[in-house]
Amino acid sequence: MKLKTKLTVGIGFLFIVILVFGILGIVSINRLSIDADKILKNNYETLVYDNNMLRALDELPENKKAFADFEANLTKQEKNITEFGEEEATKSLRTNFEELKQKPKDSSNYRELRQSIQIINNLNQNAILHKNETAQKTASSAIFWLTIIFSVLTIISFTLTINFPDVISTPVKTLSRGIREIANKNYSNRIHMEQDDEFKELADSINTMAEKLHEYEHSNLAKIKFEKSRIETIINQMKDGIMGFDERKNILFLNAVSEKMLGLKEKEIIGQYAPDIALKNDLMRRLLQNDDHHELKIYADNKESYFNKDIIKVSNDEQVIGEVIVLRNITPFHELNEAKTNFIATVSHELKTPISAIKMSLQLLQSSSTGELNEEQQQLIEGIKDDSNRLLKITGELLNMSQVETGNIQLSIQPCRPYDILQYALDAVKVQADQKQVTIKINAIAGLPNVKADKEKTAWVLINFLTNALRYTPENGEIQIEILKESNKVLFAVKDYGIGIDTKYKDKIFERYFQVPGNGKTGTGLGLSISKEFIEAQGGSIHVDSEIGVGSRFYFTLMV
Ligand code: ADP
Repeated sequence: MKLKTKLTVGIGFLFIVILVFGILGIVSINRLSIDADKILKNNYETLVYDNNMLRALDELPENKKAFADFEANLTKQEKNITEFGEEEATKSLRTNFEELKQKPKDSSNYRELRQSIQIINNLNQNAILHKNETAQKTASSAIFWLTIIFSVLTIISFTLTINFPDVISTPVKTLSRGIREIANKNYSNRIHMEQDDEFKELADSINTMAEKLHEYEHSNLAKIKFEKSRIETIINQMKDGIMGFDERKNILFLNAVSEKMLGLKEKEIIGQYAPDIALKNDLMRRLLQNDDHHELKIYADNKESYFNKDIIKVSNDEQVIGEVIVLRNITPFHELNEAKTNFIATVSHELKTPISAIKMSLQLLQSSSTGELNEEQQQLIEGIKDDSNRLLKITGELLNMSQVETGNIQLSIQPCRPYDILQYALDAVKVQADQKQVTIKINAIAGLPNVKADKEKTAWVLINFLTNALRYTPENGEIQIEILKESNKVLFAVKDYGIGIDTKYKDKIFERYFQVPGNGKTGTGLGLSISKEFIEAQGGSIHVDSEIGVGSRFYFTLMV
C-alpha cells in the first residue's frame, strides 16, 4: 500500500471516529431531549391544567371568576389531548362543565367533574411514568452503543498509535542506514524494502545511484591503475635514477637504475623510512642531505659515474605531499669535458714550444748579428712579437685552465715576501704600461709580513689584474696598487679608473669564458676564473668593487 494511502486511511479513520461519535452523541441527546419535551408538553402541562381546574372548582359557585379560569384551562386541555382515553374524559369534563354553568348549585356535577379531572390526571401520570421509562431505555441504549463503539474505536486507535509511527520510522531508518553505507564508499550495499510504497521508490533510486557510483569508481580505479602502470613503465625505462618519498620521508617507489645504484631491491625498502635506510647506505645518506652539491660521484656501471641530483617537491593545493629525487647520469658529459680539457692541455702545451721558438727567432732577427733591418721590417717584427706574446698568454691561460679543470693545480706554497710578488708582476707588465704611458702608483706599507703563497701563481693573478686594468685605462692614465695588512691576512688590490663593471656581472666575471658584453672581446674570459681557482686553492679569497664609468678595484687576500 502506498504511503499516501496509508496516511489517508489513518487520518480518514480518525475523521470517521470523530464523525461517528459526534453523530451518535447528537442523535442520542436529541432523542432524550424529544422524550423530555414530550413529557413536559403532553403530560406535565395537562397536570397543571387539571390542578388549576380543581382549584377553580373549589371556589365555585361563589367566585364567578373561577368559571372563567376553569373555562380557560379546559380549553387548553382540549387542545392538549395526547393519551388514549383522554379525549373521552375531556369531552365528559366539557359536558359536565356546561351543565354546571346552567345549574351551578347542582352538586352531582362537581363530583363528576372531579372524577373526569382525576381520570385525565391518572392517564397523564401513567403516561409520564411510561415515557420516563422509555427515555431511560433510550439513554441506556445510547450509553451501551456509545460504550461499544468507544471501546472498539479505542482499541483500533491504540493499535494505530502503536503501529502507525513505525510505518514511517522503520523505512526511514532503513534508508538512512543504506545512505550511511554509501557515504562510507560501500557501494555494493543495497537497500531492501518490504513494502511497495514511496519509500521503496526512494530506496530503488538510492540503489541505482550506488550502482552508478560503483561503476564510476571501478572505471576510475581501472584508469588510475592503467596510468600507474604506464608511469611505472616509463620510470623504469629511464636512464636516470628516480626515487619517490612521501611527506614523512617514507620510500614510495624507485626505478631499476636507482635499485642498481643503491644496491637495494625495491621490494626490500618500499614503504620504509628513508633515514633508516641511510644509516646503512652511503648513497641514500648523500641523497637525503639537503646540501647545495647537486653533483654526485658514484661507482656505477663498473666505472666512476657522475650524477646530477634534482629534488622535485610534489605538492597538492600548495601543501607539500612528498618529493621525487631524480639522479641524472651526466657521466657522458663528464667524459666529453675531460676529453676537451685533455685536448686543450695537449694543444696548448704543444703550441708553447713553437711560439717560444718564434719569439727567439724574432729576437735574433732584431739583433745586429743577423743584419740591419729597415724601419718597416722592424714594425712588422714588433707586430709578430705582440701577436706571439698574446698567443703565449692564451696558451698559458688554457694550460692553467686545463690544470684547474682536472684538479691538477701544482702549488708550491711557501712564505713569500709580498714585495717580491709585486715586483714579479710589475716586471711582467712594465713594457705594456710604458707603451701606454700609464703610471702605476704603489701604496705598500713597509714591514709587511710574509704570506703563505705560491709566488708564481699569485704573481700570475696580480699580472692578470694589471693586464685587465691596463686594457681599460686610457693612455697617460693611472693605476694604483695597494698592499695592506688586515689582521692575519695581506690584501693585494689593483685599482683602475676605467669603464667599470655593471653590478649584475660582478659574480659572473669569475666564471669561465665570461666576458662583459660590450667591453670588447679581446681575451679568453678565463683570466679571472683561473685567478679565483689559484687564490682559493691557496686558502685566500678574491673580490671586486666596481662602478660603471668610475672604475674597478680587484683584490685578493692571502694568509700570513
Ligand atoms: P679576459 O680579460 O681574458 O676577457 P678575464 O677573466 O680576465 O678575461 O675578465 C673577464 C671579463 O671581465 C673581461 O672580459 C672584462 O669584460 C671584465 N673585466 C675584467 N677586468 C676589468 C676591469 N679592470 N675593468 C672593466 N672590466 C673588466
